[in-house]
Amino acid sequence: MQYWRTEILRLLTVLAVAALIGWLAGNVPLTLFAGVAAYLGLNYWQLWRLRRWLRGNPSATQTEPPESFGLWGEVFDGIYQLGRQEQKSRDFLESIIRKAQESSSALEIAVTMIDRRGSLEWWNQAAARLLGFQYPRDQGHPVTNLVRDPRFAQYFHEADYSEPLKLPAPGDGSRTLEFEIALFGERERLMIVRDVTRLHRMELMREDFVGNVSHELGTPITVIKGYLETIMEHVHELDGKWRKPLGQMLQQSARMENIVRDLLMLTALETKAVKRQQKPFRLAPLIREVESDTAQIYRNRGHSYRAECEKGIQIVGDRAELYSALSNLAQNAAKYTPDGGEIRIEAAFIEDGKAFEIRVTDNGIGIETQHLSRLTERFYRVDVSRSSETGGTGLGLAIVKHILLRHDADLRIESESGKGSTFVCRFPAERIRGGEPRVIPQAPFPDQPPQINVH
Ligand code: ADP
Repeated sequence: MQYWRTEILRLLTVLAVAALIGWLAGNVPLTLFAGVAAYLGLNYWQLWRLRRWLRGNPSATQTEPPESFGLWGEVFDGIYQLGRQEQKSRDFLESIIRKAQESSSALEIAVTMIDRRGSLEWWNQAAARLLGFQYPRDQGHPVTNLVRDPRFAQYFHEADYSEPLKLPAPGDGSRTLEFEIALFGERERLMIVRDVTRLHRMELMREDFVGNVSHELGTPITVIKGYLETIMEHVHELDGKWRKPLGQMLQQSARMENIVRDLLMLTALETKAVKRQQKPFRLAPLIREVESDTAQIYRNRGHSYRAECEKGIQIVGDRAELYSALSNLAQNAAKYTPDGGEIRIEAAFIEDGKAFEIRVTDNGIGIETQHLSRLTERFYRVDVSRSSETGGTGLGLAIVKHILLRHDADLRIESESGKGSTFVCRFPAERIRGGEPRVIPQAPFPDQPPQINVH
């Protein structure tokens, strides 16, 4: 404000001096005109200096502004200060970007930024090493043209990045890479790639080891169990004191046989290609088969069974695997439900028709909430002694989970101690052919029971 006042005062002084000279010389309009022209000329000269300074100095920081006074001095200084502030923030941002680039180039993990059109924007040195990206040749090229595996293209376009993708490294099939993608901004993607060759090899070795050990143990256990069965048939010929130990040996060898069988099954599930045997088949007969087989195995327990599934429904999957999963659940229901209990196997679309559920419900002993999230871990048992009594291996639910995974399904467990349990297998609706959306009646709990999703 002060500069404005000075500037107006300066103009008034020029006009007053011009008017005085004009009055003395006898031609006021001429001297007034000359005064205004001189004032304007002075301002144009300042504008010209400003333009000249900015032209040779676009960021207004390289050279000091021209010396000036009054309002023009303030304009020059103001532009200079703004330029310096902007330069400071630019330097700060550049130093952050430089640090990010330097630190990311020191990483063993490949980091790649992909724009909304799916083209490469930026990548670090590890990405160049692991994926062969070359700068500037590949910048702006679609990532699916550079990582040419069709599984990658499918993963990239499906945009479900909840699970990472493992693939052989491009150009070096002996190495395994793990791809993870995160969406950010406006459908831009950050792709992280790790070399997991060592881990993958160890995983394969573990699977092989478990598979081989189980396989090798199979024959000796069968032989031992066979002899024990034969001995038990003639147990009356032996001294009475042998009866109990022999009985226990037979029971334990049967358990060992079950463990080996379940471990072999798990190994097969882990190594067999998914979807090889998957095709549509009728679900109702499978559910009836599971029901009648379980009822037959536990015939002396006095349970009542109910199976419900619409006749026309077909499910796309591996029948033998789904039989195994459902009979595991149904046999658990029978095992962990006191005599005379009720077991239901029901299948139907859930309310909105978006998914399809098969539920196995019992009104047995139930499971305490703290165990629910760990039930599908291998060898996890709520009560080891009770489970051993029932011949359990602690592998049944791990098998169920694996089978469901291979069918894009997940397992939800609802249970309350002392009231019963419901094991819900939820399939995506695309796996189901035929049938009308229908709601499954309520589980046997009056209130919402504790539940857990197992992935
Ligand atoms: P197991 O062979 O010991 O039955 P599973 O993996 O099938 O092993 O089950 C793990 C544990 O979950 C069991 O030991 C049991 O304690 C519990 N469980 C499974 N199903 C039921 C059920 N329907 N009711 C109560 N507990 C159950």
